[in-house]
Amino acid sequence: MTDIGHYIAGQRVAGQSGRAQDVYNPATGAVTGRVALADEAEVGRAVAAAQAAFPAWADMPPIRRARLMNRFLNLLNQHKDELAHAITAEHGKVFTDARGEVERGIDIVEFACGIPQLLKGQFTDQVSTGIDNWTLRQPLGVCAGITPFNFPVMVPMWMFPVAIAAGNTFVLKPSPTDPTPSLMYAELMKEAGFPDGVFNVVQGDKSAVDALLEHPDVCAVSFVGSTPIANYIYETGARHGKRVQALGGAKNHMLVMPDADLEKAVDALMGAAYGSAGERCMAISVATLVGDVGDRLVPMLAERARELKIKNGVEMDAEMGPIVTAAARDRIAGYIEQGVTEGATLVVDGRGHSVEGHENGFWMGGTLFDNVSPEMTIYREEIFGPVLSCVRVADFAEGLALINAHEYGNGVSLFTRDGNVAREFGRKIQAGMVGVNVPIPVPMAWHGFGGWKKSLFGDTHTYGEEGVRFYTKQKSIMQRWPESISKGAEFAMPVSR
Ligand code: NAD
Repeated sequence: MTDIGHYIAGQRVAGQSGRAQDVYNPATGAVTGRVALADEAEVGRAVAAAQAAFPAWADMPPIRRARLMNRFLNLLNQHKDELAHAITAEHGKVFTDARGEVERGIDIVEFACGIPQLLKGQFTDQVSTGIDNWTLRQPLGVCAGITPFNFPVMVPMWMFPVAIAAGNTFVLKPSPTDPTPSLMYAELMKEAGFPDGVFNVVQGDKSAVDALLEHPDVCAVSFVGSTPIANYIYETGARHGKRVQALGGAKNHMLVMPDADLEKAVDALMGAAYGSAGERCMAISVATLVGDVGDRLVPMLAERARELKIKNGVEMDAEMGPIVTAAARDRIAGYIEQGVTEGATLVVDGRGHSVEGHENGFWMGGTLFDNVSPEMTIYREEIFGPVLSCVRVADFAEGLALINAHEYGNGVSLFTRDGNVAREFGRKIQAGMVGVNVPIPVPMAWHGFGGWKKSLFGDTHTYGEEGVRFYTKQKSIMQRWPESISKGAEFAMPVSR
């Protein structure tokens, strides 16, 4: 069993708070480690290390910061498989999916290597005779990231590569459920040559989060997790004078039109609903089926859901791994029970699933509901498990109105062959990320990621140019040289001359 501690000022540091929690391998149910839970003093030490590193780091020319980021990129590429194995061991997702996660994280590091171009300001020559005006973007200081269990590599990399490349220093507070990868990439940052204190990790729970939110030296907080906590982070961070972007939960719909290629729609739904056991903020959890699509598509889905290869994620033919914790599995089972009680048709029941040789793992089979209606709990709330709800609607307009009435607006998808319907959908849908014949439209590194409505609190999306804006502040400089000043004082409002 491993003790998993913090990473502060360029070295691993054991927890000193006296609080720790078990880390599990969800496929076996075995405890594999103990993760330290930081207290206010330990968070204070990490912030102090980041604060001490900030002035020299912010002053370093962006091209030199980018060169270090480029070395980090090369190291990540060399250690991709180790990182993916570490994800599978503590999260449970299948190895190929974990590798995909690492690659999508690496994309952001690659984007951050372009920071000199991204930080370029705007310049206007001669705004008035003899006066020039330009804008530049400068780093904020110490930034903090608070991240969820479901992407222990990718989601932190939505944040710290951009923040650090822009000249900030960073304190990451990962999920205590799968903490090991954070220490691995902290060590790769050191190996790449980043100065000590530029990137720090504190393991922990609410105590560590609150210490970061209240710390006067933390300038900005990026959060990804569930909506109630996102709301809390946004309000508390703002009350303490910080910039906050807080990404929350989701209930992503796929609208399937009668003209869609149903084979492709079924493939897309299988991967998007059951991939990573449905524990993705961009998972499709509602299939909105127009007209007669339900009668044709539900039997196809049911057959496929029953055949899912559910195994330990280290097995290469596994399609779905276990649920992250026993508590999460029980919560999902509770939702399934509630769906039945509220009158939905349970077509495939994943409860009680077991995997031979891994009887103590946290298993749940793929679950499919039909005839789900908008007032049901399984429709309104985020289940965050391998449960797909089918809602039947009469036409496109009803489907659009249904999706737009939901309180979440993270991702959404449309399957159709009609370009005009696709265009209308893209323009009218109330969600941040839209896919047309694409089930999980996670934007690429340079486009930025973020939902609408209760899926995001704050103004800017994460990574991409919005990410650079979040981690920098604009300064405008207006400059004139002494010849004009020597003409004497001016008391009227300056106007262009
Ligand atoms: P979570 O909200 O429980 O935890 C997220 C982070 O907040 C963790 O670091 C956790 O330690 C911390 N935290 C938990 N309770 C807290 C409290 N009371 N006070 C302060 N901090 C607290 O989320 P999770 O279960 O780890 O992750 C799953 C959730 O994340 C889902 O709702 C999913 O939709 C969401 N998510 C959203 C996105 C997105 O981009 N919108 C991406 C990934 C995950």
